[in-house]
Amino acid sequence: MTSIKQNINQITHQIENSIQKCGRNPDSVQLLAVSKTKPIELLEQAIEAGQCIFGENYVQEGIEKVQYFQKQHPTTSLEWHFIGPIQSNKTRPIAEHFDWVHSVERLKIAQRLNDQRPSELGELNVLIQVNTSSEESKSGTTAEEVMELAATINKMPNLTLRGLMSIPANVSNYAEQLAAFKQLTSIQNQLRAQYPQVDTLSMGMSGDMDAAIEAGSTMVRIGTAIFGARDYKNKE
Ligand SMILES: *Cc1c(COP(=O)(O)O)cnc(C)c1O
Repeated sequence: MTSIKQNINQITHQIENSIQKCGRNPDSVQLLAVSKTKPIELLEQAIEAGQCIFGENYVQEGIEKVQYFQKQHPTTSLEWHFIGPIQSNKTRPIAEHFDWVHSVERLKIAQRLNDQRPSELGELNVLIQVNTSSEESKSGTTAEEVMELAATINKMPNLTLRGLMSIPANVSNYAEQLAAFKQLTSIQNQLRAQYPQVDTLSMGMSGDMDAAIEAGSTMVRIGTAIFGARDYKNKE
């Protein structure tokens, strides 16, 4: 049986290989461990293996984990990223517990997160989720709308705009994966030209990580390859 630690080591190697192949700087890609649906024990194993950045998709489940670790491991410094779809009536607990939100796709959500962010926690880091594949069913703002949303978020005192996130259509062809990611990179370059604090491009999952890194990802979101397949029973 492979352990979480072995999986993390293997993914870390794969990230390093991809970085090297395309000549990017070492350490230019962070690993976000996506732990949705997974029990606390597996997160503890990941932490023992040195992982300290976690992504969660469901508000209630995510908060329970954040609170558990604050209480049981108060000296372990962890960073929590909310990466799931956001309903407007769930913004408060997100603003009160997470360090980052990757899935901001409309003004109303950004405004609520800003208004509800407790000042003692400092600014909430946000990424705008972009829909590059223009599929009706996929969430994310359109490429055309990004600059306008970014300008508004940039003025909000309790949010820091850090960049973009996308979940492109699930295709296995490398060239198609690369083309979709490069669209996001080009929007990111426009953003960076205007907002110097923008430094994060969240793209790449277990199945398309290499193409994402070649296209310029700075944060890959890996679930299955670390924690194994998910069981969605009992999920919202
Ligand atoms: C579940 C999820 C992931 C992880 O996907 P894997 O294919 O399991 O690596 C990454 N990003 C988002 C937004 C997710 O919801």
